[in-house]
Amino acid sequence: MWRLLRPDAVEVLKDERARSALRRYFAVMEKKLPARFQVCKHVAANVPLSSNTKELWRTHSEGMKEFRDILSKLDSKKLRLENLATPEISLLDLKVELARRILKSCRFCERGCQVNRAAGGKGFCGVGAVSRISSEFMHHGEEPELVPSYTLFFSGCTFKCQYCQNWDISQFPDEGVPVSPASIARLIENAAGDGARNVNFVGGEPTPNLHTILEALKLCRANIPSVWNSNMYLSVESMELLSGTQDIYLSDFKYGNDKCAERYSKVSRYLEIVVRNHRLAFRDAELIIRHLVLPNHVECCTRPVLEWIAENLGPMTRVNIMDQYRACYLADQFEEINRRLTQEEFSKALKIAEEVGLKNVIT
Ligand code: SF4
Repeated sequence: MWRLLRPDAVEVLKDERARSALRRYFAVMEKKLPARFQVCKHVAANVPLSSNTKELWRTHSEGMKEFRDILSKLDSKKLRLENLATPEISLLDLKVELARRILKSCRFCERGCQVNRAAGGKGFCGVGAVSRISSEFMHHGEEPELVPSYTLFFSGCTFKCQYCQNWDISQFPDEGVPVSPASIARLIENAAGDGARNVNFVGGEPTPNLHTILEALKLCRANIPSVWNSNMYLSVESMELLSGTQDIYLSDFKYGNDKCAERYSKVSRYLEIVVRNHRLAFRDAELIIRHLVLPNHVECCTRPVLEWIAENLGPMTRVNIMDQYRACYLADQFEEINRRLTQEEFSKALKIAEEVGLKNVIT
């Protein structure tokens, strides 16, 4: 059915630009290579999980070197996953343990609330220790290479975007259904059996649910690419834990300056953090970057975002320039964004992409 609804999702299989930017993702999707999180399960972490946190991080760093080595051998067909032993304690077990410890003084995102969520505390995002999802389904509205995408919408967010289109999910962390890592793992396996091209973790925002997601991946037996669909306001520790578990970072690069970020999403140091995390994500896996063009923000946000991508990540970076802005939630309190985007503004955004040399744009 989705083939009829989204013929572009079929055509993209032959699209050389999409394939060149997402080479490994396509190989995992086509069952030619293992998903990164499955590889993580075969990397030994030679440390008791009761060790002190410093020792766990030291072992994690060694484990990541080993992970990259194994991944490169798997990708060049010098090694097969089936021939690797399953260690008693894996790199993914270690990541789960470290995430559990961070939850006790939460620093999953750069807000760094340091509340003990494991003991019932709640920080800025309002998300508890038990993750909640507002919905999960086979999504047919994502980028063509992702469709059909098995998407889990977690309640709550680390941002407060005043124009959020999913505000009923992002701003109500207590809504939705509590989910365990084991139930998520089973849902992913079923979706993989039903033909999902990937599992897509979104919200709201997946970041406050990092502990749940890592544990779900640990329990998941399906070989399916994992997509981290995020505002990219994660702490460095979270980026390190994510590293080696995600096949695609589907990032949302919203603003070209801190003033707009503060005004519309109530977030500080936006550029510094989001730029840093894009660099880390680019080094770790493959990227699709989304940029929603905001009314009256083509010069202050769209231009610097697209310039930065072209200059730092290269002209073949897969970028989705989006025109579907609607004035939702509290947008009517901001006159300059209280309307739809004009055709002129969107054409200007596309022109900028061309000017800065981006050659792999999805529109
Ligand atoms: S994930 Fe939530 S509680 Fe944790 S640091 Fe971020 S906003 Fe604070």
